[in-house]
Amino acid sequence: MDTKKLKTAVIGEIDSRRHQLRELSLKIHSNPELGFHEVKAADWLTQYLEENGFPIERGICELPTAFRGSYGQGKPAIAILAEYDALPDLGHACGHNLIAASAVGAGVAAKSAIDRFGGSVLVIGTPAEELYGGKVIMADRGAFDNFDIAMMVHPGTHNTATTEALACQALEVEFFGKAAHAAARPEAGINALEAMLQSFAAINSLRQHIKAKARIHGIITDGGQVANVVPAHSAGTFLVRAEDDAYLNELKQRVLNCFIGAATASGARLEYKWSNVCYAPLRNNLTLAQLFRQNMQSLGRQMPLSDPSKGFGSTDIGNVSQLVPSIHPFVAIAPEEVVTHSPQFALAAASEAGSKGLLDAAKALAMTVVDLVANPEIVVKVKDEFAGK
Ligand SMILES: [Zn+2]
Ligand SMILES: [Zn+2]
Repeated sequence: MDTKKLKTAVIGEIDSRRHQLRELSLKIHSNPELGFHEVKAADWLTQYLEENGFPIERGICELPTAFRGSYGQGKPAIAILAEYDALPDLGHACGHNLIAASAVGAGVAAKSAIDRFGGSVLVIGTPAEELYGGKVIMADRGAFDNFDIAMMVHPGTHNTATTEALACQALEVEFFGKAAHAAARPEAGINALEAMLQSFAAINSLRQHIKAKARIHGIITDGGQVANVVPAHSAGTFLVRAEDDAYLNELKQRVLNCFIGAATASGARLEYKWSNVCYAPLRNNLTLAQLFRQNMQSLGRQMPLSDPSKGFGSTDIGNVSQLVPSIHPFVAIAPEEVVTHSPQFALAAASEAGSKGLLDAAKALAMTVVDLVANPEIVVKVKDEFAGK
């Protein structure tokens, strides 16, 4: 069977499973589970894969809701990544239910390509994308070391084959001052809230003079208890983001200097901690993105390689993309004015457009697997690009 016929077969396979895949995505959507607690979702997904001939390892990387399903043994080893965590209060407002169903659908449909040409397809369950960077932990624990390629598709409001995602690290800060009666003895107090407010002012000044794509943003999580006591304690959480690791490191020190300066000025003592999880920027493999794009376009969905008007955040596949040639395209399931992480996007993730996005994503992923296993020279090209050759 040639590549073209195999792609037609793969599309037919996903079409014949469209009710099952939609049901799977809706079941996850109506049972939202937070990061590292995606017990039901991991069960349903692994069960589906197992019923369709994928041996499963559960709880890989010492993460109970992570899993690995594999079909075939050979090279290239192509990983399709599934996410399935939800957001607090908002449920599946990032549409990870669709990522999950498209990943298992693509894996199962790609079996015929593996049977015909060899290689292996792996569906990797990666928990806790939203809050804890599950893939960062999995990457550190070697989960992606033996793969040749990693792919996933995220739902969004634009179709794009590449994604811009920034390096990102979180900072927890606390100021310790001294309580005093705010009117009777203000001179006896050291105001920890003022230290925090000065830090914000210093960061706002800094922001005028940083690179265009860098981001610094934070919240106050403790600003005192009552207005007539000088706050003895304040706390906040900040995120620092940059286009690359080198600039992130530079910026981290400059942000920290804002807090150190405020501590000196106010007399409050500063304590801080950088998060253990550091998101790496996303390296898009353009050879892979072009293949995916062509497959998506053959399904009738126009897909630019990139969309400069699209905003950027950070994602834990960034860390995977530093180890293995990767892509993280977006498939539009809602109009442009709907933002992700909103109740409207949660509705879209259970809509007809959501299902269409899931099926197109599964098809284009499986078709890309066909291209890769049928054309070893393309895999070489993908790897050469990754190696900077
Ligand atoms: Zn997401
Ligand atoms: Zn999200």
